[in-house]
Amino acid sequence: MKPNFPFIPYGRQAIDQADIDSVVECLQSDFLTQGPKVPEFEQAVASYCGAEFALALNSATSALHVACLALGLGEGDYLWTTPNTFVASANCGLYCGAKVDFVDINPATYNLCVEKLVEKLAVAKEQGNLPKVLVAVHFAGQSCEMEKIAALAKEYDFKVIEDASHAIGGSFQGKKIGGCQYSDITVFSFHPVKIITTAEGGMITTNSKQLADKIELLRSHGITRQVEKLAETSRNQIWFYEQQTLGFNYRMTDLQAALGISQMQKIDEFVAKRREIAAIYDKSLQKLADSGLLVLPAQAENTASAFHLYPVLLAADIRTQVFEFLRSKNIGVNVHYIPVHTQPFYQALGFKPGDFLNAENYYAKTISLPIHPGLSLEQQEFVVASLEQALGQALEQAGKV
Ligand SMILES: *Cc1c(COP(=O)(O)O)cnc(C)c1O
Repeated sequence: MKPNFPFIPYGRQAIDQADIDSVVECLQSDFLTQGPKVPEFEQAVASYCGAEFALALNSATSALHVACLALGLGEGDYLWTTPNTFVASANCGLYCGAKVDFVDINPATYNLCVEKLVEKLAVAKEQGNLPKVLVAVHFAGQSCEMEKIAALAKEYDFKVIEDASHAIGGSFQGKKIGGCQYSDITVFSFHPVKIITTAEGGMITTNSKQLADKIELLRSHGITRQVEKLAETSRNQIWFYEQQTLGFNYRMTDLQAALGISQMQKIDEFVAKRREIAAIYDKSLQKLADSGLLVLPAQAENTASAFHLYPVLLAADIRTQVFEFLRSKNIGVNVHYIPVHTQPFYQALGFKPGDFLNAENYYAKTISLPIHPGLSLEQQEFVVASLEQALGQALEQAGKV
């Protein structure tokens, strides 16, 4: 076994001199926030994704919150999402006073299962508690079955938010995620472990002018200064602004946008590198998969993942041991995700283990291997060799070999 490397994280930002220069230039400019960099970044993301509007926010969590508000989610409504996600995909419903429920995952893709959704919608229709909003999470960077989801949204009259926090640069049916062909709103995250980063940051894309206008108000205190949006009596007062709704300070700074603009120039390179790493894992781990010791992440038809994550499944009884062994080798494996409904906060709302078994079974077996643009081939080979070693040891101890 090769010597240990310094800690190899599961995900990490890739920052180069151009990124640094872009931020420094902004620091030396007139605007640290509310300047020209935010609209420039928004334009870059909108045109990359093929969406009409893009709105930058200070996080994907804020973006999910205002997306729900703009879609009219409120008390007495339901938001549905997948349990196999970060808590923010569900919390946004609770922020709005709505109730949250979950649709179990497809055991092949780990994304929300469309067949389960169909069943659950039929029951909800009977009971009169259909969702107002569905948050479809593109887990690991792989798109959900958006065309089918959009057809159901039409049939049952609910709105669709794509939580594409993992998935900028990915595509569905050959089109970039974020174009909102099959949804009302798409949300991206720019946290450092995601595909591109602005340190903290998020983005909404939409093709609806009405939604874009609402979101613009909500992200900045509910205040507008645009003359054509002011009451007639205020229009001749040049200093005037109006608070028209209850909004928040969810703005992205120009420093962050300057970083984002620079990162966007490398997005295709980043995603290509992630796909290359995934392909190497696929190839190196195929033997273990063939012997039934491991399940590789399956790729569905019509999708091209951005590979935010590379989750592999192991037998549940050896997962923890393998995880601990890899951590002892300074390999920053992780687990995505603890099913949201099993969190204490959600259990206090009435959910319990056993409610969404596919997500729970997946969780019991999964390990996310390191994948990010800075991961070297040498490091990746070390991860693979360590995983093989860990599996060998664990199986021996479990008396399986
Ligand atoms: C990271 C993440 C979020 C939250 O993103 P922030 O920008 O950190 O607020 C939401 N949903 C999913 C699926 C995520 O992975």
